Amino acid sequence: MRIVVLAGGIGGARFLRGLKQAVPDADVTVIGNTGDDIHLFGLKVCPDLDTVMYTLGGGIDEEQGWGRADETFHLKEELAAYGVGPDWFGLGDRDFATHIVRTQMLGAGYPLSAVTEALCDRWKPGVRLIPMTDDRVETHVAVEVDGERKAVHFQEYWVRLRASVPAEAVVPVGAEQSKPAPGVLEAIAEADVILFPPSNPVVSVGTILAVPGIREAIAGAGVPVVGLSPIVGDAPVRGMADKVLAAVGVESTAAAVAEHYGSGLLDGWLVDTVDAGSVERIETAGIRCRAVPLMMTDLDAAAQMAREALALAEEVRGV
Ligand code: GDP
Ligand code: CA
Repeated sequence: MRIVVLAGGIGGARFLRGLKQAVPDADVTVIGNTGDDIHLFGLKVCPDLDTVMYTLGGGIDEEQGWGRADETFHLKEELAAYGVGPDWFGLGDRDFATHIVRTQMLGAGYPLSAVTEALCDRWKPGVRLIPMTDDRVETHVAVEVDGERKAVHFQEYWVRLRASVPAEAVVPVGAEQSKPAPGVLEAIAEADVILFPPSNPVVSVGTILAVPGIREAIAGAGVPVVGLSPIVGDAPVRGMADKVLAAVGVESTAAAVAEHYGSGLLDGWLVDTVDAGSVERIETAGIRCRAVPLMMTDLDAAAQMAREALALAEEVRGV
């Protein structure tokens, strides 16, 4: 079975680990979000790609959900001693090595997709991880700070400001001119099923869908497309997804997110059992829906979610 998954960081990575356990023999291609990418200290940092790579490769800081296990922060302290920031973005010593290798390879002329493949040679995530594009796309968030409207990099909004001010708009800068990375459209065309993990619908999955050609390829693939809600009980399970949903005019409910993707894209949608009351509304919107436990409390729970998603895909296929 060939499965394509559109993934952000933590939500995507934890789901993928469950998917690997549920169907170890499946051929899984992950299309990763690169809208979160940022240049720091002269280095190219790809937080979502790395979260997927470290999580599936066994190097993740489990508790935090991002960054490396057994991490130290000497380099950051030394930089701070020189007065060199930013100090609000957590980069550990082990993690730095990844960004150095990546930046070196990019500087030598390799596209990000080739660099990601090379990094995965070490981590062996057990999936094919492809960035959504080799072109530069940067998610910016329009905010009002002290009466002044300005656009900040997504990481500045998310990490430094902790989404504490309302997001007025979310713009994937550069997306319109970007092209899907090599292998992305091919994987979609050859997929038996396409999954949207419980990743952020705006700044993770939404950014991937903003790369011209990807949304159209998924909608026209002719195979089941099934998603899992990152919103449980009218709130994001983790993080501040409600803030960026508000910016695109979508309420923070499992049903509203399903309708935001729409029946033109989604065939099936899983909501948590606490949101069972919204199943009817979602099915009325033309999306087949089931309520099942959606909390990734451990690997087995994530694997069960993956099985439910694949079962719903088979149900949709049988229609
Ligand atoms: P990020 O790039 O690290 O923010 O990660 P993603 O975009 O892949 O996923 C973030 C989303 O995952 C958040 O909106 C959370 O609500 C969602 N999420 C995290 N853990 C869980 C979980 O256990 N269950 C569900 N349903 N969603 C989750
Ligand atoms: Ca992210």
